[in-house]
Amino acid sequence: MSAKIIDGKAVAAEIRAEIKAETERLIGEKGVTPGLVTILVGENPASVSYVTAKQRAAKELGFHSVQDSRPADISEEELLALVEKYNKDPEIHGILVQLPLPKHINETKVLYAIDPDKDVDGFHPVNVGKLMIGEAVFLPCTPAGIQQLLIRSGTVTEGAEVVVVGRSNIVGKPIANILLQKKEGANATVTVCHTRTRDMAAHTRRADILIVAAGFPKAVTADMVKEGAVVIDVGVNRVGQRPSKKDPNRMVAILEGDVDFEAVKEKAAAITPVPGGVGPMTITMLMMNTLKSAKMAAGAA
Ligand code: NAP
Repeated sequence: MSAKIIDGKAVAAEIRAEIKAETERLIGEKGVTPGLVTILVGENPASVSYVTAKQRAAKELGFHSVQDSRPADISEEELLALVEKYNKDPEIHGILVQLPLPKHINETKVLYAIDPDKDVDGFHPVNVGKLMIGEAVFLPCTPAGIQQLLIRSGTVTEGAEVVVVGRSNIVGKPIANILLQKKEGANATVTVCHTRTRDMAAHTRRADILIVAAGFPKAVTADMVKEGAVVIDVGVNRVGQRPSKKDPNRMVAILEGDVDFEAVKEKAAAITPVPGGVGPMTITMLMMNTLKSAKMAAGAA
């Protein structure tokens, strides 16, 4: 039997409609408009396209959105001063510094300079620590999106065996922590695999919910998946190019996840596609965090 496809685009659209309605209410009742600044250093094409997508989403939701682009040779001191300016700006509730930064700038120093109350990416150690102890304010966006996909697809996490492949600070570790919490939409028994794991397939085959963030195609094949499992594929791998459907003269990337989708979908109960699974959720959760920050600032959270 072929798996149910968990449609990340549809879930993201549903959440964005909720954010839009809540934004209108916040503006109407408290006179507070959620404000998001995206700080872009240099002109890395991938970073430009990520920042553009974030700004577009913010505008569509009725946010106050600021795009602050700086040249690649900005000094670390100047960038820290810019972050501080937005830390103090009452119209800004979320600060996003697009990574990677040029080599002469210490990324950690810049991320740590963001006021934790405006850290809508959820990477500041204060927010990482709060997640760990079950007091999370801002969940990191990709793992938060994964949890929403599970909840909204009706996947029961309580008591489930969850296996996460990957232990990065942006995906593997936070999703493991989120699903481990003694909370609704969590309460799972979580195992985390990485390159030093002995016999990874022995773990993945036990998973009721398998979350894969390994960073290469076909990291998980059908023989590694239990019949009836729910499989969340976080991977985004550029495996080639093809002409764009809208404009055949333009080439676009062919994307593949970390899971052997065609084979695994014949075994799983549900699976996320790539593209169109986890991807659309990440920016949506950034918007959710910005709204939350604005509500807290307005005393409405
Ligand atoms: P990462 O920092 O490269 O981490 C990869 C993790 O996978 C590491 O913990 C690594 O283990 C583990 N790993 C690699 N090869 C393995 C193997 N053969 N067996 C077991 N574990 C293995 O990657 P990431 O930043 O977490 O991203 C993972 C994937 O998700 C990438 O494809 C990325 O593009 C994608 N992603 C998507 C989104 C989205 O919005 N859709 C957001 C973020 C990332 P070690 O720690 O031992 O090295």
